[in-house]
Amino acid sequence: MVLKLFNTLGRKKQEFKPIHGKEVGIYTCGPTVYWYQHIGNLRSYIFADILKRVLIYDGFKVKHVMNVTDVGHLTSDADSGEDKMEKAALKEGKKAEDIANYYWKIFREDFKKLNIIEPNIWCKATEHIKEQIELIKKLEEKGYTYETSDGIYFDTSKYKDYGKLALLNVKGLEAGKRIEVGDKRNKTDFALWKFSEEEGKRQQEWKSPWGIGFPGWHIECSAMSSKYLGEQFDIHTGGEDHIPIHHTNEICQSECAFGKKPWVNYWLHGAFLTFKGEKVSKSKGGLFTISELEEKEYKPLEYRYFCLNGHYRTQLEFSIENLDNAKNSLQRLKRIISSLPKDNENSKIDKKYLEEFENAINDDLDMPKALSVLWKLVRDEKAEGKIKTIKKMDEVFGLDLLKKEEIKIPHEVQKLVEEREKARKTKDFKKSDELRDKINKLGFNVADSKEGVKISKL
Ligand code: AMP
Ligand code: ZN
Repeated sequence: MVLKLFNTLGRKKQEFKPIHGKEVGIYTCGPTVYWYQHIGNLRSYIFADILKRVLIYDGFKVKHVMNVTDVGHLTSDADSGEDKMEKAALKEGKKAEDIANYYWKIFREDFKKLNIIEPNIWCKATEHIKEQIELIKKLEEKGYTYETSDGIYFDTSKYKDYGKLALLNVKGLEAGKRIEVGDKRNKTDFALWKFSEEEGKRQQEWKSPWGIGFPGWHIECSAMSSKYLGEQFDIHTGGEDHIPIHHTNEICQSECAFGKKPWVNYWLHGAFLTFKGEKVSKSKGGLFTISELEEKEYKPLEYRYFCLNGHYRTQLEFSIENLDNAKNSLQRLKRIISSLPKDNENSKIDKKYLEEFENAINDDLDMPKALSVLWKLVRDEKAEGKIKTIKKMDEVFGLDLLKKEEIKIPHEVQKLVEEREKARKTKDFKKSDELRDKINKLGFNVADSKEGVKISKL
């Protein structure tokens, strides 16, 4: 089966062909760990997880690298504003390193809750300063850099393909309000190394051939991805907001430093989660964390299911109502699956449905279509080996479709069940029935079987 992926570089669906046989290298831009990652951020990582699961399903051996940005990401994605980590450290009165470790830990817990497979390699920007300095030195030797009063910059006029990913019309870019030129030669030039304004004031700063300071945000991704995946690799992912600045700059500096074109063969971008039609943000709302959804009685996998209902390249509108719909659908789906009879020992996977499913996932990760195939399968009374087929599909969905729900049985219900057991043992069936009614009124059911009493939710 051919896997087709939509490549932002060239804006086309293309057949996926790895550089090294069945081995695939993927780099995903990870979180900036100054605060919790919200459900919008997490949509991006669910998309990367689906990509990885599809590749694994297709028999590829995936090496997945994800960075942790713990220095250098300024409050604007360009080169102005404060360092997000330093700002948070000052505000919380803590060490930047402790803040980074704290939010990174929460992020990994969210991964577990959402059934996102962890990357093979996590890499922190602050632990790769040497590699970043080496890369800047390489660019300097090749004549791509220049110095201003606040740092070392890349001269983008020296790279003719600068706008190729974002389809930017570089010449047409006006020195608008959003792009400050300052000492820069060109509006699109970006910082590779920033000088500390005042030595000793920042928590995180390092010596470099150019003076004390810290790396720019973009250089970390080029330095770390090449360290772990080589100077040319297969797939790079991130959210759609990274196209015009962060990924454009990553490509620029990497292609100039390593001399390989394209530096990365496939660029995949996840569309935003929106709230009231706009990217979720502090001012617009919808900025929930997974823990906050849990407090509202939503399970993380219900959020995952919600995300799978939208294609990764289409913006997805978040609202509590939409999340409720997803929650109800997933619950219904799991109820149907749990009531399916066990597969016959000799029954095989249903080839027809599996093929339809595989066509969907290999067509640029069409998960809404794949879900519709699953729904058709569970409702089809004639389908073969349903449980086996669902299990196979769940390797990609990651929804724990066959996992029994752990139900919390309230103490009151437990006591009534025990009383009912006693009544049954003494053959007091009237009392036993009355107790069953009471249990039902509390929303639970009891069923007697050979293996004992089974309690379930009504
Ligand atoms: P950050 O921690 O700001 O670097 O963002 C982490 C990831 O989340 C990046 O890949 C962003 O592109 C992505 N992202 C940010 N906001 C959203 C959103 N509303 N929907 C989907 N992805 C987002
Ligand atoms: Zn990055």
